[in-house]
Amino acid sequence: MKKKTCPKSITENSKRLSCKRKRILPALVLLLLGISMASSGCAWRKEAAPITRSGFYFDTVIQITLYDSRQESLIDDCFAMAKEYEQLLSRTVPDSDISRINRSGGAPVTVSDDTIKVIEAGLAYCELSKGAFDITLGAVIDLWDVKNNPGVLPDRKELARALDTVGYEAVSIEGNEVTLTTPGAQIDLGAISKGWIADRMKEYLNSQGVTEGILNLGGNVLVLGPKSDGSAYTVGIQKPFAEDGSLLLSVDISDGTVVTSGIYQRYFELDGTIYHHIFDPDTGYPYQNGLLSVTILCPDSVDGDGLSTTCFALGLTEGLALIESLPDTEAVFITTDYEIVKSSGFPA
Ligand code: AMP
Ligand code: MG
Repeated sequence: MKKKTCPKSITENSKRLSCKRKRILPALVLLLLGISMASSGCAWRKEAAPITRSGFYFDTVIQITLYDSRQESLIDDCFAMAKEYEQLLSRTVPDSDISRINRSGGAPVTVSDDTIKVIEAGLAYCELSKGAFDITLGAVIDLWDVKNNPGVLPDRKELARALDTVGYEAVSIEGNEVTLTTPGAQIDLGAISKGWIADRMKEYLNSQGVTEGILNLGGNVLVLGPKSDGSAYTVGIQKPFAEDGSLLLSVDISDGTVVTSGIYQRYFELDGTIYHHIFDPDTGYPYQNGLLSVTILCPDSVDGDGLSTTCFALGLTEGLALIESLPDTEAVFITTDYEIVKSSGFPA
């Protein structure tokens, strides 16, 4: 892989890569199916099947698979973490830190250290993308309600009012206090929180001695590796909109994350146009930029999550240039013509 220089804002989170739902549910199931272990020569592994369980948190299917532990309680602990973070970070949980900030009317709100860290991670991508990624799109996201939308475009005046509340510069952090300086601004961390939580789960499992496994948080795949027998994890990248679950390609990684942002993950269709869930903060409409999906390979899932949405928002040319400027980070872009465009160091 060629040498690259990393912008300061995300350097901290980009350290090591050792190799590199008309609806959400079908897509998730397909992605889960797309993940498979590469064959292993380890005798123990042949005898002991991995333990795997699924749960549903923050509107997302989470699947946890452990290869070198038989302790189901560790998976319970990870699900408990998911619930805890949901209680802090979800906009739909009334007493979450984020809900309290969003209804504060501009008053400072004291929140947990974890919430501060996730907001700060989000803000780093707002800056890196010069606002194409924006964690204050909550009012616009609510108005579209893509998940439940039967095919109705939002009223233009209402959309204009919602857009007036968007702008990440309104988020001010002082210690553990968060203040939203624009009236009506609404924080939404949907583009970054799953990745951040996946990293926390990995840390926890590592601390418990687990070093081989796969975490899949709604398409944020994070592997615990490298495996002791040296073999890689094979992670499938779904063909957008494919109802039969077919994969467009797969990547072998021994450590790190594979995160996809795609319009097929959540959308509705009206008069031949797909209205999906990644919005342009300038227009309040979903980005229509010739892309179906972007998949990022990098060490940490918070960066994979931040970058996949950021690169989708930036589009192919700018997004690819950003990836080429980052160390230990690769990407594959899938265009509306199903052309596959890979960054220069993408694993063959
Ligand atoms: P992801 O699946 O990680 O790409 O995140 C998509 C989610 O991020 C959406 O469902 C919204 O909750 C939120 N979102 C939508 N548009 C943007 C944007 N331009 N910047 C940041 N977050 C966004
Ligand atoms: Mg994301």
